[in-house]
Amino acid sequence: MSRSPVIGVLALQGDYREHLSMLEAVGSAGHPVRTAEEIDAVDALVVPGGESTTMSLLADRFDLWTSLYAARQRHLPMFGTCAGLIMLADSLLDARPDQHTIGGLAVTVRRNAFGRQVDSFETTIDLPDLAIRDFPGVFIRAPRVETSDPAVQIHGVLHDGALAGTIVCVQQGPVLATAFHPELTSDTRIHEYFVQMVRQAQ
Ligand code: GLN
Repeated sequence: MSRSPVIGVLALQGDYREHLSMLEAVGSAGHPVRTAEEIDAVDALVVPGGESTTMSLLADRFDLWTSLYAARQRHLPMFGTCAGLIMLADSLLDARPDQHTIGGLAVTVRRNAFGRQVDSFETTIDLPDLAIRDFPGVFIRAPRVETSDPAVQIHGVLHDGALAGTIVCVQQGPVLATAFHPELTSDTRIHEYFVQMVRQAQ
């Protein structure tokens, strides 16, 4: 019998507590991780929403990049939301030149891409590949996926108005990300999907 997977939540900054609550709610308690040793010990990693510039600086300060890159190299399942999507993107636009990312998703992401009028908004999202309909999408100074390699699965796009077609949920192998914040809702379906991904990777 395989042991239950240890899901780490990167707890440098941002809404990691909300991710811990969601994981608890889906019966797969997460562990806050802040050190290289803790990152090296997990079976999966959640990268929360927050402020990706600050997360990158804190990862510099705590010397985490070797462990974070190693996590990607060993195909660790990872789930990023909003700032977490930025952290998992291979390339960034409108980022500070010294901002680093873990990578893993062959996408180009523009930070704070929605402009002032739609800085924060809510809309429902369908993720057909995940059999999820009407997911409450909470967007806060969200990043936008501007280019996406064919190797990346696009799970969800916006449907309404000027933003129609905007990519909001992607997956490449073990790496899943949303431009919105499922952790700020009470809807656990995407976390459940991620936990399934983690179990299958065990
Ligand atoms: N704008 C933030 C960033 O660039 C992301 C916002 C969020 O996670 N809500 O990191």
